[in-house]
Amino acid sequence: MSTPQATDAQKQYLQALLDKGLLFETGVDGLYGRSEVFERVVQKFDALVSKYGGKDGAEVLRFPPAIARKSFEQSEYLKSFPQLAGTIHSFMGNEKDHQALLAHVEKGEDWMGGQKPTDVVMTPAACYPTYPLMAKRGPFPKDGRLLDVQSYCFRHEPSLDPARMQLFRMREYIRMGSPEQVMAFREQWLERGKQLMGSLGVPLNIDVANDPFFGRAGKMLAVNQRDQGLKFELLIPITSVEKPTACLSFNYHQDHFGLLWPLRTHDGKVAHTACVGFGLERVALALFKHHGLDVSAWPAPVKKELEL
Ligand code: ATP
Ligand code: ZN
Repeated sequence: MSTPQATDAQKQYLQALLDKGLLFETGVDGLYGRSEVFERVVQKFDALVSKYGGKDGAEVLRFPPAIARKSFEQSEYLKSFPQLAGTIHSFMGNEKDHQALLAHVEKGEDWMGGQKPTDVVMTPAACYPTYPLMAKRGPFPKDGRLLDVQSYCFRHEPSLDPARMQLFRMREYIRMGSPEQVMAFREQWLERGKQLMGSLGVPLNIDVANDPFFGRAGKMLAVNQRDQGLKFELLIPITSVEKPTACLSFNYHQDHFGLLWPLRTHDGKVAHTACVGFGLERVALALFKHHGLDVSAWPAPVKKELEL
């Protein structure tokens, strides 16, 4: 399973963002520097999310964009998305190995063979570091757990579609508790998500979705996920009206993570979990697409809502 080829409209939008100096090239597709203006939009949107979600009393947690390899293994991410994972390797040799390494680099040869895996893996979704932490704390209080995270995430899906980056930020609220608590959270955020994005003057719709599970077995998982309505996305057309882009995802994991870690409710039951994830760069890209690349010319109500 490979990343879909970028369309002409996607490539053109990327070029326009680079020409305008909103994003900067690094030489790798999907890896970009961000300008001050781009960052301001991201930060203001992040703050708007807090305005909507902040009153619920979520515990705010921030992690670096990597997790322990052990936790990554335990998450079973590799079962579903081996193609997206990013592992961190490092040089761990002696002086002789160092000379060999430099010689390979000098000759333009493959020098990665000698790199050894570290204990660190890139975070694939912002909620991943929270499961081991919450498991370690033991059974939940009666009203479960509500968490607020934001992290750069890595996914190996190089593309010329600016909305498909390899390193991007995800802001998430995560709910852990009884099935009723978790379902209520998802319902609440489906409504809030619509309201929040609607206030920014972008066209949107919500649809059932599936994750890009790997391989033949993955096709079945994707069908199951859709049939059971476990994943919804809030879609905004960025470079195509027919194929709008997922800017928010609402994921209901049922007892998947509860069983893996394990996570337990106050009365000892296997916890259910769900998260709502905002793709911060994707939202910024949607705003730039609909309101123009010049923020000062954005509609007044949008600027007011974002406090820009
Ligand atoms: P897609 O189906 O487009 O690959 P996804 O279903 O894998 O996205 P999630 O895993 O639910 O997305 O991630 C949560 C949010 O993170 C998405 O709604 C999206 O806004 C954002 N996101 C996911 N992948 C990327 C990416 N490669 N670049 C930028 N943002 C992304
Ligand atoms: Zn999540």
